[in-house]
Amino acid sequence: MTQTARPGPVHVTGELLATKKIGAYHHLTLVAPGVAEGFRPGNFLAVSVSESRLARRSFWIHRVKPVGGYGAALELVVEAVGPGTTWLTRLAPGSRLEVTGPLGRPFALPKEPVSCVLVGEGYAAAPLFPLAERLRERGCTVTLVVAGPDEAHLLSALEARRSARAVTVVTEDGSVGRRGLVADVIAEVLTKAAAEVVYAAGPVPTLHAVAAAAEAHGAWSQTALERPLTCATGLCHGCAVPVVGEAGISRTARACVDGPVLRGDRVRWTDLRTDLSAEPEAAR
Ligand SMILES: Cc1cc2nc3c(=O)[nH]c(=O)nc-3n(C[C@H](O)[C@H](O)[C@H](O)COP(=O)(O)OP(=O)(O)OC[C@H]3O[C@@H](n4cnc5c(N)ncnc54)[C@H](O)[C@@H]3O)c2cc1C
Repeated sequence: MTQTARPGPVHVTGELLATKKIGAYHHLTLVAPGVAEGFRPGNFLAVSVSESRLARRSFWIHRVKPVGGYGAALELVVEAVGPGTTWLTRLAPGSRLEVTGPLGRPFALPKEPVSCVLVGEGYAAAPLFPLAERLRERGCTVTLVVAGPDEAHLLSALEARRSARAVTVVTEDGSVGRRGLVADVIAEVLTKAAAEVVYAAGPVPTLHAVAAAAEAHGAWSQTALERPLTCATGLCHGCAVPVVGEAGISRTARACVDGPVLRGDRVRWTDLRTDLSAEPEAAR
């Protein structure tokens, strides 16, 4: 696996260029000088949401694309689930935004042109599209699994068909593709693709299922974990993830700087809290 040196994160005032609603998600295009230059798939952006909310909200960087007159723009995919994300999706084009990025440890790329399976659920599939592009540039074979509760929560399923050799679409309600969960199809997909590397982004139970299936299949897995991030820069140690470190010794990793991409076989999935609704609201 290789990672090359890039410019580090910057803290800048960005500008929202456009917002487009596609299915259940809002696609936000913004310019944030200095962020795109250091971007690698799996990086995220921390965004200030209104003057009254202290904690920044984190978003995967979905795309970096040239925009006339602005240099490179970033695209985020936002699901309005609470006050911060709702505020963001209602912003008018031209609004200023305080952002920090690119943050976090990105996906590591294989050195050899191997067979890769990429699994994305809901908006969290966002970082897998630029990853698929990088992998194809390296001669890797890319197989995609795109999942969600229903059709509205499938991210760019059409684009997925252009990005990969094979695509499996899975919805819980069966509105499109196969009915069920990622866990129901993953072993079959890994076998069919003769997968050597597996990348996954989505809710914790899905990441756990993918990591377990990859291990059983004998593939290397990398999982993009979403934990509530308070500072998002490694300073507060508030996003501890239980992991098995070198030599099998248990320790905690910080989701924001040691992750959000972590080796699937290193995360102690059963010790990871999934009930985030109990997180204190006070300072957020
Ligand atoms: C690295 C990373 C990348 C992310 N990328 C995206 C993205 O591309 N698009 C997107 O829409 N969202 C993304 N999220 C989740 C997003 O940051 C949260 O949904 C957002 O902070 C919620 O803020 P809010 O003020 O709207 O709601 P809040 O009221 O703060 O939270 C609403 C509910 O979501 C829970 N929650 C808060 N943070 C998280 C979290 N990190 N993971 C799971 N549940 C959480 C809360 O406990 C609460 O139940 C990402 C999170 C992380 C850590």
